[in-house]
Amino acid sequence: MTVRTRVAPSPTGDPHIGTAYVALINHCFARKNGGTFLLRIEDTDRSRSTVESENAILESLHWLGLSWNEGPDVGGPYGPYRQSERSAIYREHVEKLLADGNAFKCFCTAERLEEMRVAQRAAHRPPHYDGRCLSLASAQIQANESAGVPFVVRMKVPSEGTCVFTDALRGPIEIEWRAVDMQVLLKSDGFPTYHLANVVDDHLMDITHVIRGEEWISSTPKHALLYRYFGWKAPEFCHLPLLRNPDKSKLSKRKNPTSILYYRQQGYPAEALLHFLGTLIDARNDDPALLGRGASTRERNELLLDHFSAHCDLSHISVGGPVFDIPKLRSLSGQWIRSRTPQQLLDLLHEWGYVWPRAISAGQRSRIAQIALHRIEVLTDFGPLTAFLAEAPQITRQEMALPKVPESDVRAALGRATAALLQLDGGAWNQAAIGDALKKSFDGMNYRFKDIVRALYVAITGSPTSLPLFDGMEILGKEESLRRLDVALEKLH
Ligand code: GLU
Repeated sequence: MTVRTRVAPSPTGDPHIGTAYVALINHCFARKNGGTFLLRIEDTDRSRSTVESENAILESLHWLGLSWNEGPDVGGPYGPYRQSERSAIYREHVEKLLADGNAFKCFCTAERLEEMRVAQRAAHRPPHYDGRCLSLASAQIQANESAGVPFVVRMKVPSEGTCVFTDALRGPIEIEWRAVDMQVLLKSDGFPTYHLANVVDDHLMDITHVIRGEEWISSTPKHALLYRYFGWKAPEFCHLPLLRNPDKSKLSKRKNPTSILYYRQQGYPAEALLHFLGTLIDARNDDPALLGRGASTRERNELLLDHFSAHCDLSHISVGGPVFDIPKLRSLSGQWIRSRTPQQLLDLLHEWGYVWPRAISAGQRSRIAQIALHRIEVLTDFGPLTAFLAEAPQITRQEMALPKVPESDVRAALGRATAALLQLDGGAWNQAAIGDALKKSFDGMNYRFKDIVRALYVAITGSPTSLPLFDGMEILGKEESLRRLDVALEKLH
């Protein structure tokens, strides 16, 4: 048997981080087993599906470094891979269910269904179709149809007994048929619902393993029943635990951003996010060797996917629900950025669309990247951290105050620093010489260098912590560095 897996997103909003997580597992499981992974677009909800959403899903999964062997963009022998292009196939299958007596036409109006729902809610019963059209006489059905009364097609569901199916992570799952609604399979607009299209496509596309989120467990009895009605062998089912917020609630927009686009805009490199998702699948993927120091993005991506795939084992997935912990993602992103070369950071910034301030010349960029590399966790940190190199900070007298040094001594220190730097020959204006000169200038001041140098940090960068000061001054040049010391000195008079 050739393993075939799929991810089947509905294009109804921003590309969800959960889709990437499910896609990654399906990709790795197929890869480990020498199988095929496909992407199918489930756009049967015509009112909510949009082309923009579909494009954003494909683009963000590609951005993450995921690929698929078959899909709407790459084609394949089982196409079309977009459900809106497969309507005739679903209609044909609905006809078969009707002919075999496994489904029925339902002419109930929206108002009647609503009344029924209200009554059920009031009686604290789950919403359920009451079966009124289940046994309509065929003459009545014909009359309704000739009069053009709109209808849907519903599946028949046993009224008693229990559905048992096996889940790869949980073993046998039993759900009483009483709890299963007579699901609409074909809507009055002639479009199938998710349930019908999903089962028909998984069968026709020879999917062997349905690996999807656990929110679909309650739908699986309907699917298992449809496989039985059609006389098909059902695939293996594996319901993945949902990603959780740190408080263990289901990952939701209200508590954590859920769109892949958000993480991209916030400057998380794609590989860092992919690596993080890998650690959610299996904690053993949290391995520094996977940072692939210096490797190109492509090599790194292959390294990650190869590793995840080689270790992909459904039995290692805990049903507890992995926590989508943003501080952890941030820290992994920082580690990943630190494992890059300065040139790779420049490339990353470029791809991300970073616009350099005009005051920074092309020649200075790689030096800046070199010193910033170790101090940022996401690309959005880069601009604020390096802004002082393009524009002098606006500082106040209060900001120049140091906790352990009286103002008169701060002034004296700035004076000494200025005098020492003036002595430095412009040709020797480099971080080592600047550092030496400054350290010597503070000799005999009775303060630890660490305490007094904070005044220089504020004068030059506007903040007591920033990029390495001497490198920053080297990049700024002698004239600009001295000018900033002067401005700072003036604040203290
Ligand atoms: N279209 C469904 C979704 O958006 C697919 C569920 C499944 O994989 O069966 O998640």
